[in-house]
Amino acid sequence: MNVSAVTGGTVVTPDGLVRADLLIRDGKVAAIGSAPAATTGSAAPAAGALDAAGCYVLPGGVDPHTHLMAAPRLAAAAAARGGTTTALSFTSPRAGESDLDCLLRSREEVSGAGALIDIGLHAAVYDPDGVTEADLAAVRQAGAAAIKLFLAYPELGIMCSTRRLYELMSMSRRIGLVVAVHCENAPLIEALEDEAIAAGPREPEARIFADTRPPQIEEEAVARVLATASLAGATCYLVHLSTAGAVQQVRWARAAGHPAVLAETCAHHLLLDDGCYARPDAERFLVAPPLRSRSHVEALWAGLADATIDAVGSDHSQARTPTGGRLAAAGHHHAYGLAGIGTRLPLLLSAALARGLPLPRVAQLVSEHPARAFGHYPRKGALLPGSDADVVIFDPAGRTVLPAGGYGDGTGDSVYAGQPVRGRIRAVLLRGRLIVSDGEVADREPAGTYLAAGSAGGLPG
Ligand SMILES: [Zn+2]
Repeated sequence: MNVSAVTGGTVVTPDGLVRADLLIRDGKVAAIGSAPAATTGSAAPAAGALDAAGCYVLPGGVDPHTHLMAAPRLAAAAAARGGTTTALSFTSPRAGESDLDCLLRSREEVSGAGALIDIGLHAAVYDPDGVTEADLAAVRQAGAAAIKLFLAYPELGIMCSTRRLYELMSMSRRIGLVVAVHCENAPLIEALEDEAIAAGPREPEARIFADTRPPQIEEEAVARVLATASLAGATCYLVHLSTAGAVQQVRWARAAGHPAVLAETCAHHLLLDDGCYARPDAERFLVAPPLRSRSHVEALWAGLADATIDAVGSDHSQARTPTGGRLAAAGHHHAYGLAGIGTRLPLLLSAALARGLPLPRVAQLVSEHPARAFGHYPRKGALLPGSDADVVIFDPAGRTVLPAGGYGDGTGDSVYAGQPVRGRIRAVLLRGRLIVSDGEVADREPAGTYLAAGSAGGLPG
């Protein structure tokens, strides 16, 4: 069904809240004003009109951080049911596959996925020493706005040295790529792992994984990345920040006038804490970086409120990662990575209502800023005339119980299953098509496409 108008709601625009109808033509926002039926006072709604009385009309969610290539169609459907209409996914190069070839293959797979939402890509760099400036230019040409570098995971052979970080950031500045960085200090993790292994078994066993990645591991790496980006003049995007110290360093970098620094945190770091690692099912909550104590969680919320943190992603993990390196060699076999592409927006909206974080700020964090950072704004991330009519109708007075299957994402486990949240997503539109109605998929002919990025990296102010 093509929707021609969303009437009677409160539209969340980049300029604030507007009580208005949203008019849609050819899949785009045509105007924000009064629908014809409303102006004439007719009791019958216009054909294709959705009533949003009592609801907020939000731009569709843009998830800046997902790993969905193991099952894009399932992940996209779960995203849609949770109000996310654009997902940006990291690629996952296979053994022997170049980073560029992986991006090109992933682009083909997304194009043919029959996904319910639009999907763009970031190029993971698993071979930082081998990738060339020509490769990076080809990545940009193929529509990716960002590469991702890892300061961790030497056991996977993907860790980027500080020197190479500088060189790749310099190349990326010339090409116009955003450099997303996973900030953890790998040698320190290895030293702590050796100590933990020597100390012998403990309960719950999974806690060893979390305890060998304490806050200092992230904070040191964030400082290194900010210094390197400053020297290279690169736009850097710090993924999944989880600590008070990391947030503080972003403040310092901006106060020092360093070039563009974009900061992301993830839903699980805002909504869960390290108490989960005392549970018998602690392994379900393993993620890198790990869940933190309450003081870090509160520091992240403060970072959202004062605009230090720009974006909230899911870090949705479609396939969990087995632990490697020293822990695996010593018999500590776990899997890590959390699913959450569908629950990101419902959880954030609920928590924001409870904490009094204004909905226009939430819309920036979950939609506008991710779109701006990666070259999809204003086509995505805003309800403005000319934008894609990607719309979420959200009833703040409703209630939702998060479903057991993570909205059917196919991962088989959602740590949020059964959790009640405030508010209810009544409908979701992609380019004016009704794709989700009251939580269920309403579109049998998915129209999601591969989304190529325009110029990236800019946030206002
Ligand atoms: Zn990730």
